Amino acid sequence: AYDSKNSISANNPTKKLLLSPDSFINLDHGDPTIFQPYWRKMGERCTMEISGSDLMSYFSDVGNFCWFLEPQLRDAIKRLHRTVGNAVTEDRYVLVGTGSTQLFQAALYAVSSPGGSDRTSVVCAAPYYSSYKEETDFLQSGLYKWAGDAYAFDKEGPYIEIVTSPNNPDGSIREAVVNREEGKLIHDLAYYWPQYTPITRPADYDIMLFTFSKSTGHAGSRIGWAIVKDEVVARKMAKFIELSSIGVSKESQLRAAKILGVVIEGCQHFGTADIENFFEYGQRLMSERWEKLKAVVKNSQIFGLPKYPIEWCSFTGKYIESHPAFAWLKCKEDTDIETILRANKMQTRGGERFGVGREYVRISLLSPEEMFNLFLERLSAIEEKGITYE
Ligand code: PMP
Repeated sequence: AYDSKNSISANNPTKKLLLSPDSFINLDHGDPTIFQPYWRKMGERCTMEISGSDLMSYFSDVGNFCWFLEPQLRDAIKRLHRTVGNAVTEDRYVLVGTGSTQLFQAALYAVSSPGGSDRTSVVCAAPYYSSYKEETDFLQSGLYKWAGDAYAFDKEGPYIEIVTSPNNPDGSIREAVVNREEGKLIHDLAYYWPQYTPITRPADYDIMLFTFSKSTGHAGSRIGWAIVKDEVVARKMAKFIELSSIGVSKESQLRAAKILGVVIEGCQHFGTADIENFFEYGQRLMSERWEKLKAVVKNSQIFGLPKYPIEWCSFTGKYIESHPAFAWLKCKEDTDIETILRANKMQTRGGERFGVGREYVRISLLSPEEMFNLFLERLSAIEEKGITYE
């Protein structure tokens, strides 16, 4: 699915995508290349040198339950959450994973109830992130199985509910919906960062998942982390990672620690240092994109977008609106909007993959600028000429 023609190539010194007016654009994945210009501006600040004799051991921290976690990364994660104020980390267990994707699977393993006659049901309120269903059922585990929309879940017994907040695909702020004693919760907080949403309080849930991919945009490093309250759950998650990949790349962990350190520095010396605060930059960029998108969708007879509340953001000290990573575009009932957009050379992801109707579509707003502008042009062109299935 990765289209090399649309990637920013090392052999392309202008760093332009060089899209032509009839290039097909892929807005299906939330590939966070939007932040690349910021990191380019950081120049050598994040550059690391790793020699051939470095980082050879499997082990990072033998005394720690998560023995493959580099202490520098653990410290950077805790400092970052303290700086942003988006999660409680004191007296919590911190784990690293190969993306939060691996940690999600580790969490399913850790909280499902073995030994029962039934597999534990895994639910999430629709519209839900499409990968949960695919990842849950991929290996047909004997421990758990996907049971779909949490709003429609009425089975007795143990269950696991995933709460994604802000939500992928629609950017809404969420709480658990089933609320029964036998339930275990996994909170996926991939987008709980100031560039996407107001930070209203430090999150404090049993299992919280975060990712380097969406916080700073470094999806290629494949670093995610979990903050866990319960020691038994944390140890089981670490065991899952030990058995699936014997730990997580040290090169990636150290690079993540270095980059998170630069982000923290930019937050602490905001307004005085020569490093621009990454989150302020991201917030401005996302807000500009949303303004442009809203202007196109406004007065539209065809498309609609969700409305987001304005809330106090403790990080920025301002009232701000959410600027989600995806546009959750709606058309009138029964319109196959994904097909319409594809006919207009835009690959997006249709509502059915998220457990709702095909009148919805998810569009990534994290693409490089040139692609985003082409997307807006094409969307306005559809509005002008009306819907056609050419
Ligand atoms: N959770 C959510 C809600 C996501 O949107 C994504 C990435 N699209 C992930 C998890 C996976 O993140 P990672 O790159 O860390 O595996």
